Amino acid sequence: MSEFPYGVPVELTPRVRRLTAPNSGPMTGPGTNSYLIGHERIALVDPGPVIDSHIDALVDTVADRLKWIFVTHTHRDHSPAAKAVAAATGAELIGNIIPNDGFQDPTFVEARAVADDECLSTDEFTLRAVHTPGHVANHVCYLIEEDRMLITGDHVMGGSTVVIIPPAGDMAQYIRSLERMLDYDLTHLAPGHGDLIDAPHAEARRLIAHRLKRERKVSDALAVAGPCPISTLVPIVYDDVDQSLHTMAAKSLHAHLLKLVTDGRASVDGEVWTLTD
Ligand SMILES: [Zn+2]
Repeated sequence: MSEFPYGVPVELTPRVRRLTAPNSGPMTGPGTNSYLIGHERIALVDPGPVIDSHIDALVDTVADRLKWIFVTHTHRDHSPAAKAVAAATGAELIGNIIPNDGFQDPTFVEARAVADDECLSTDEFTLRAVHTPGHVANHVCYLIEEDRMLITGDHVMGGSTVVIIPPAGDMAQYIRSLERMLDYDLTHLAPGHGDLIDAPHAEARRLIAHRLKRERKVSDALAVAGPCPISTLVPIVYDDVDQSLHTMAAKSLHAHLLKLVTDGRASVDGEVWTLTD
């Protein structure tokens, strides 16, 4: 049996179960993880994509005990099943909505917004919302306080680097949201894709260092190349990344450049970026 058996809930702690959707791929790892918290009155985080077998597995597992459906964000691998699961169970939809930039789930419309630090308490668990913009502007992580487990959606992924696509994605915010994870005493991260991650603070620090190292590569490349468009910088900055990923890398590079502009270290005129420090 694989680590991510489709259609079968995996128990992570006595109060947390994971059901993985069968949408594995280069951007989704083994598939999107849906998390079920509690057994009597259940909260679901990230119902995942509309795949009938996954929706059936979720609804069969929760029966009439599902009360709340939260989403970490509204990318199409995370929220679209919310509508069907809510219709089948009567659970309340909770999550933040942003204007559709072409990457958002247009069916996630009837939700109650979730405030930063908002808390849901039942006899079994306490779930706290932690706003973490960066991967996308409406991203929220959810802390299961009793387990000190943070459900991270796409803020932190198991085994791959999160893509930051401006303008909904923002590198400066992303790094601040990674730093925010250091404020919480955590034992595990429960990502939207991939397995549980140990040593959350070490992982957050590693990810921050990785982004700042890439940022240094961007400013170094810009210093050497002089004023130039993104297409000139991609092969220099991502010389360690397979060429097949360069289209995606160009989007993250754009995010790095915008952060340099925000930090007062670069300027942009049309397509041409210039280092100013
Ligand atoms: Zn996403």
